[in-house]
Amino acid sequence: MAHHPKHERTLVIIKPDGVQRTLIGEIIKRYERTGLKLVGLKMLVPTEEMIEEHYLLDPSWKKKVGEKAISSYLKKGEKPPSTDPVEVADSVVVSLKKYMSSGPVIAMVWEGGHAVEVVRKITGDTEPRSATIGTIRGDFVLDSYQMADTDTRAIRNLIHASGSIAEAEKEIPHWFLKKELLNYRVPHEATLYEPVLDTAPR
Ligand code: ADP
Ligand code: MG
Repeated sequence: MAHHPKHERTLVIIKPDGVQRTLIGEIIKRYERTGLKLVGLKMLVPTEEMIEEHYLLDPSWKKKVGEKAISSYLKKGEKPPSTDPVEVADSVVVSLKKYMSSGPVIAMVWEGGHAVEVVRKITGDTEPRSATIGTIRGDFVLDSYQMADTDTRAIRNLIHASGSIAEAEKEIPHWFLKKELLNYRVPHEATLYEPVLDTAPR
């Protein structure tokens, strides 16, 4: 039972720019309407240490974030600021510490079928400039690698969402104590997950 996809959990953080833009309700609505269930929520101003630890939970993250930035520049026919992924990532970590600790954020845990994948799909690509319309990052903001790098800052993309199940499993305990995550039932789970759909009139 523990490994049925309906029990999957993922971490979402509404970043300081999302709170400043008063998009908390809009963002929560988009995850909630899929049928995913909110099982933890808190508002806090993270410390720089919490942010550095958060992004370094996955040892392969640095290489990936650098490669993603470089390939985004190349795809648009633009020149990346550096061709060394780790060098790019080192400066991203410095910028992220400043950005993410600059004000209140909302940290949440969402639970339900394929939660990690579904949340990433709704959130959209890292760079709002290229994120698809209909995603949160595509609909509500416009930042780019180019603008962030020109001003030596992090890309303002409103949200953090775990990138994989393994990432979620490390990130959730970094932000929440076990007792802060609640187990409860909502009626629509029967419609979403019960093997036999019971629609008989009563
Ligand atoms: P995601 O948040 O989509 O999972 P990453 O894990 O690759 O993206 O990066 C973490 C965060 O770091 C991004 O959401 C963004 O705010 C910031 N970021 C990533 N790459 C860059 C970059 N090249 N320049 C500035 N900020 C970046
Ligand atoms: Mg990520």
